[in-house]
Amino acid sequence: MNSKLEEISDGIFAYIQGRGEWFVNNTGLISTPEFSIAIDSVANEERAKTMLSNFKEVLESRIKILVNTHGHGDHVWTNHLFNATSMCHENCRKDTIMANPEIFKAIFPEFDFNGARVTPQDITFSKEAKIYAGDLEIRLIHPEIAHTSGDAYVYVPERKIVFCGDLLFAKPCTPFVLMGSINGSIRALKEILSLEAKIYVPGHGEIATKNEIGEAIEYLEFVYNEAKQRIEKGMSFYEAIEDVDLGKFKNWNEKERIVANLARAYAELGKYEIDLFEVVRLMRGRR
Ligand SMILES: [Zn+2]
Repeated sequence: MNSKLEEISDGIFAYIQGRGEWFVNNTGLISTPEFSIAIDSVANEERAKTMLSNFKEVLESRIKILVNTHGHGDHVWTNHLFNATSMCHENCRKDTIMANPEIFKAIFPEFDFNGARVTPQDITFSKEAKIYAGDLEIRLIHPEIAHTSGDAYVYVPERKIVFCGDLLFAKPCTPFVLMGSINGSIRALKEILSLEAKIYVPGHGEIATKNEIGEAIEYLEFVYNEAKQRIEKGMSFYEAIEDVDLGKFKNWNEKERIVANLARAYAELGKYEIDLFEVVRLMRGRR
């Protein structure tokens, strides 16, 4: 898998893995003379070791803090390989404890989760936390329910940088909001769009700007409206899956996520009760 460590500002790095496919996430590193901060771990030990050896080349000081942007396995399963104090939103910690790799190995046997482990975080916060690495202010902000109920994005105002976690799936990836909220995700994306920022590191996909945030909002609004129109016509979630035409979004990768996103939209409109195993089965049938 091709991965790259890109310096997006002096001492601040985005680690972009592959093309952001399923369970292949991006991470971040803020390296300062005082101490360093890592943002998210990855889904398996081999990838974590590759990432950490990339980090080693550029580290100015030891990684003292590991921030998790949310509790999905691809972002937390190799926390144990960091000799650091970990922190995240309080619901992220709950999700981390729930994300048992053995269950995922059974559902997704084709993916490599070797060495994946549950390592709950040391410190949690409810709305916002700030880290000061010397003079550099790093803000961790929870935008209410969005991709999950425990998201936090990492904002470095002085450098106009946001590490978005999975609030943002950028090119070439399709957003995925099954475990969160469509409207919450739109609201969170508008929140990060309104920040004084220029560089947005998505949880999956290529490094982005405000343009890609606009596209993600457009996709989520599309899903919500498509669901709403079909509900008005009396169509069920299952009928909607067969009926929706992705149009301009059909060339995005992991387009089967429309099934999961429609499930969430139908749930928000009160017309489907989410059954995670069912949704995953229906979605995988369309890959
Ligand atoms: Zn992810």
